[in-house]
Amino acid sequence: MTTAQSQSSAIPPSENPSAAARAPLALDSGNQASGTAIPVPVAQLIDIRKTYFKPDGSVMVEALRGVNLSIPRGEYVAIMGASGSGKSTLMYLLGCLDRPTSGAYLLDGRNVARMHDEELSAFRGRTIGFIFQSFNLIPQLTIEENAEVPLFYQGLEKSERRERAIEALRMVELDHRLGHRPSELSGGQQQRAAIARALVTRPLILMADEPTGNLDSATGLAILRTFERLHEAGMTIVMVTHDPAIGRRAGRVIFMKDGDVESDLRADRPDPVSDPDQAPGH
Ligand code: ADP
Ligand code: MG
Repeated sequence: MTTAQSQSSAIPPSENPSAAARAPLALDSGNQASGTAIPVPVAQLIDIRKTYFKPDGSVMVEALRGVNLSIPRGEYVAIMGASGSGKSTLMYLLGCLDRPTSGAYLLDGRNVARMHDEELSAFRGRTIGFIFQSFNLIPQLTIEENAEVPLFYQGLEKSERRERAIEALRMVELDHRLGHRPSELSGGQQQRAAIARALVTRPLILMADEPTGNLDSATGLAILRTFERLHEAGMTIVMVTHDPAIGRRAGRVIFMKDGDVESDLRADRPDPVSDPDQAPGH
């Protein structure tokens, strides 16, 4: 039995208030299991369906057909599958950029499907860091100003915004380029600035849809190393990729087919935190 299966049998029937009161993820301590209890997964999808309808109300496409998925804290997940299999739809739901047609999505123990729009966008801002294939940096702003953007919405003081932006740029090894605008940087550096912007809110999950898709292979590899360093520091990462070489570097590969999970494989590498079955003593 996989961890995902064993944990889905312990789904809390309603929202989990203790999980909502968690401390912000500190990169150097976010991957600690506490006591003997199985920690609440960061993200849990229960029978998630997403149906797109035509204007006349008839079904156009069933993009997700009852997906069940559990992502423990600290895991590095690659989502793969043919074009049209539902990868982006799944990412958008996981990233709270869209809502399911039915099913429950527990993010940090709270049911996202039931939240109002405003509550959902505030919750998304605190929990999810999103990285896009095309970087999506604002050209007029310096990299530190770009990295600060998500913090505007959290009402942080200017000095703290700047401090956190520089801290995030340091994590992606770009702090020697402060004051530069995106056009003055290479593609790989721009993507690292975008990763810093995603990290600045200290999110629970870093999500990336084809983050190396616009980069040459050497630069893409450097970006993957950045993700791997963040993973080693305890960050939970979910990445869509069509590149099997990239998938192999992740600890878990989920293949999508026709709107459902076709296979869900973990690397042999034992990880006592994300896979309690393999922890010492089991
Ligand atoms: P992938 O990212 O794996 O290529 P998607 O999640 O983008 O797949 O799409 C899954 C299915 O849902 C496809 O058949 C696609 O055409 C359909 N789809 C995606 N978005 C929409 C939309 N906004 N309206 C209608 N159909 C959509
Ligand atoms: Mg897609």
